Amino acid sequence: MPAVTADTLTLPRVFVAPGAQPRSVKMITNAPQAYEGEGFPVRRAFAGVDIAQLDPFIHLDQMGEVEYAPGEPKGTPWHPHRGFETVTYIIDGIFDHFDNNGGGGTITDGDTQWMTAGAGILHIETPPESLVMSGGLFHGFQLWVNLPAAKKWSPPAYQDLRASEVALLASEDGGALIRVIAGELAGHKGPGSTQTPITLIHATLQPGAEIRLPWRKDYNALVYTISGHGFVGDESRPVEMGQLTVFGDGDSIVVRAANNQETRSPNLELFILGGQPIKEPVAWMGPFVMNTKREVLQAF
Ligand code: MN
Repeated sequence: MPAVTADTLTLPRVFVAPGAQPRSVKMITNAPQAYEGEGFPVRRAFAGVDIAQLDPFIHLDQMGEVEYAPGEPKGTPWHPHRGFETVTYIIDGIFDHFDNNGGGGTITDGDTQWMTAGAGILHIETPPESLVMSGGLFHGFQLWVNLPAAKKWSPPAYQDLRASEVALLASEDGGALIRVIAGELAGHKGPGSTQTPITLIHATLQPGAEIRLPWRKDYNALVYTISGHGFVGDESRPVEMGQLTVFGDGDSIVVRAANNQETRSPNLELFILGGQPIKEPVAWMGPFVMNTKREVLQAF
């Protein structure tokens, strides 16, 4: 688990205001395994959750975690997107990305690529030749963020967010590392610039550590358990690897790591996201996310 690591004791601590209302747990779902692109294994983190609960997000794949043998690493062929943004965060391994708008590059260990497809783009996402030859560990996320109707036809754009730019914070107890990739948490801004208000976080909780994060009331709140065992909400509902928690209303998120973790995953790893719902009709088919079926058919 390289991503970005740091000594949490030296970092700014995140507190919630006295009287903050912890969000209750609305539902906990299990992410089924599937295959994407040329056949790399993913977990569909949002499977079984109504799109209205996910808004402004559309889709989330945990890519891997997989240990490839030499010759095995796979990517996706050239393909189009329109009407939303793809956000690719790499925890372990290397991914190359190229698009027909001149965007692209290599991301590894804590880097993020933020591609705004807007009116339309063609891109390819693939492991570099050296990784195909050597094999190795591969683990990351791809998130799809919807665009409001007013921005679906905007020109494509590309942000290359380096691991070193991620805002690093600690929980009040000092036992959790909180990486703000995009948006803001407790006044600390991540490097990713977003088209609508959202916050994107990767947190690592040591056994027994607890996070209490201030969370905007007008945001939804989703916490995906990457690995480890923990408890969500003040009601302490148990969660483990591959489960998504959808929180209800309130102005803070509470998660605690179990005291005992497995040797292979010594910490509780979380992907935490929320945003202001766009509240527009969603017509999603394959690589296109528009407002009407007519617009999707036109994209094809
Ligand atoms: Mn794609």
